[in-house]
Amino acid sequence: MIKEFELAARPYRLRNRVQHYAWGTRNEAAFIPRLLGEAVEPGRPYAELWIGAHPKAPSQVLSDADAVPLGALIAAEPEAWLGEAVAHQFGAELPFLLKVLSAAEALSIQAHPTQEQAARLHERDPEHYPDANHKPEVAVALDGLTALVGFKPWAELRAVVSAYPEIAEFGGAMELADETALHEFYARLLRRALAEPEALEAATARLAHRLTERQAPLSETERLFLQLRVKYGGADVGLCSLFLFNLLHLQPGAGVYTEAGVPHAYLRGNIIECMANSDNVVRAGLTPKFKDVETLVEILTPQMGPAPVSTGEREAGWIIYRTPAAEFELSRRELAVGERVEIATGGRIEIYLVTRGSVRLHWADETAAYGRGASFVVPALLERFGLAAEDAAEIFRVRVPGRRL
Ligand SMILES: [Zn+2]
Repeated sequence: MIKEFELAARPYRLRNRVQHYAWGTRNEAAFIPRLLGEAVEPGRPYAELWIGAHPKAPSQVLSDADAVPLGALIAAEPEAWLGEAVAHQFGAELPFLLKVLSAAEALSIQAHPTQEQAARLHERDPEHYPDANHKPEVAVALDGLTALVGFKPWAELRAVVSAYPEIAEFGGAMELADETALHEFYARLLRRALAEPEALEAATARLAHRLTERQAPLSETERLFLQLRVKYGGADVGLCSLFLFNLLHLQPGAGVYTEAGVPHAYLRGNIIECMANSDNVVRAGLTPKFKDVETLVEILTPQMGPAPVSTGEREAGWIIYRTPAAEFELSRRELAVGERVEIATGGRIEIYLVTRGSVRLHWADETAAYGRGASFVVPALLERFGLAAEDAAEIFRVRVPGRRL
């Protein structure tokens, strides 16, 4: 199959896999099939669209008659696809993964390991950690994102302790002056939740009772607490975590970067997410999936303070969401009708997704149109191409950051 594929210096359309996780949007709210222009299966959740070469859901490269997994093509001709520099740095694998995420309800509270921790976890417990890679990630809101990211600043944590004594009583004394103390407190909370679920159940029941009896209107976090308590039961430690993490409301175009060890949970919204090519997740709450409290305690970064939200940096018409990750650089561009851009790839692979409008690509003496929801990969072989908006358009691009030529 791969033998018949003859790589040319041209862009290739991708066909991508949808993940139907239970927290995805459904029916009229289902965003991913709407983006792709596909029919919605009634009642089925549409959670994620994976664009890349992860073995769990590799994209297919479409050529005239064939559909071939992108990862297999890259493995066969790494330098032609990735470019010399990328192949040298990351081996014969695509280093990043692009996703469209569509959350109707909270995803689990999670953190991702560093590269070193990931390798260790994979060795120790390959069943739960099939992936030996780290997973730094950046999320950009398409139509808004509500998320919990990282621990609140110290002053706010102190306010939480006094406003919700039920949590403080359950977690034990809270001398939260520094990050070591916060780590100890949170570790104690997680471990006690595991060892004494009835005590946590009783604590969240007391808090729920107090909130429902109270005359004053509930805050967003308090409403969330009551909803999630019904959904996951009162013995889920995520219910306490809700109060300890930064609650973010990202406007369209705003992004948040989550590095290794930072606890987070997306609550609602349609987003573009870009990460290192990995599915390495350590979960600790708000999930029926495997929870690994000791590992979370081990990898947790107890950093206090506001979450790193950014609207991106403008550069030559692009909005770039810069992160410290070496594997990816996500950018976004809005194009007016008829606007044309010349793109030099610098001999590095790029992947694009059209999120609004449509664009036409020009290379050599060929051309192809890509409508809303379409995605394409530009192999390193194609060093230059033109892109013109057929109507007002928005596109996302991922590439490996590096010296631009
Ligand atoms: Zn994550």
